[in-house]
Amino acid sequence: MKKFSRLISLGAICLLTLLTLSGCSSSVSKKDVLTADQQSNRITWGVKADTRLFGLENIRTGKLEGFEIDLAKAMTKKILGPDGKCTFVPVTSGTRVPLLKNGNIDAIMATMTITPERAKQVDFTHSYFDAGQSLLVKKGSPIKNISDLNKPGKVILGVAGSNSVKNVAKYAPKARVLQLSDYAQAMTALKSKQGNALTTDNGILYGMAAENPGYEVVGGNFTKEPYGIAVNKNQDRFRKKLNWALEQVEKDGTYNRLLVKWFGNVKGFNYQEMKR
Ligand code: GLU
Repeated sequence: MKKFSRLISLGAICLLTLLTLSGCSSSVSKKDVLTADQQSNRITWGVKADTRLFGLENIRTGKLEGFEIDLAKAMTKKILGPDGKCTFVPVTSGTRVPLLKNGNIDAIMATMTITPERAKQVDFTHSYFDAGQSLLVKKGSPIKNISDLNKPGKVILGVAGSNSVKNVAKYAPKARVLQLSDYAQAMTALKSKQGNALTTDNGILYGMAAENPGYEVVGGNFTKEPYGIAVNKNQDRFRKKLNWALEQVEKDGTYNRLLVKWFGNVKGFNYQEMKR
């Protein structure tokens, strides 16, 4: 509960800042992000804080931990040098694009699928993680795949602003979707039986299953969800630099080391085929 209220107050602070800054959006679009970050020696990343394995707040230390957090740190050092600093701003699936657009963050690295619809609003780097959408259910559930949910009366839990809830309309149009505001709340809703299954990307679901042994990932992946880092439009120098940094961490083995660190012990998750 403490963690929830901290996240909620963080969210409120972010929203307030966002409202304050919304009047200055023209100066945001004029700013050259790479130059500004090189001058301040700092990149401000929008990351998840409720998503085990990718970006999760450690309630003991207050620090964010996960594959994306480590990848952002490694890429920051490539771009700014060994003393380069990161600021991490927690985002949710619903707040990440508005926070980027308003200049509160420089880049989004938050389990965000590259989609043509999103590419109208933001620019993406190359994909840095190939996820796919799947299902989390209570062990012993009769639900085995997405078509078992395509029936009137079935309820699928998801998170507002995610691609996953949109995909449900395509793959299980007869089901009702209940949208929560983040993945911690979606998991709580599944545990309190507010839905028959929770849907999002496989990696995120494996993180939830690891923490909740009574639940399992079923049905395989029914979509492809390549994650990209999102930056604002007209920040091509920054986007290219991020692509370069991504290539560097892939070439020097950092990427594979982080993959093994975060996914090496995740039962059922085939990280080997994701190595670069
Ligand atoms: N990858 C999907 C998306 O970009 C689901 C994960 C998320 O909610 O961040 O929407």
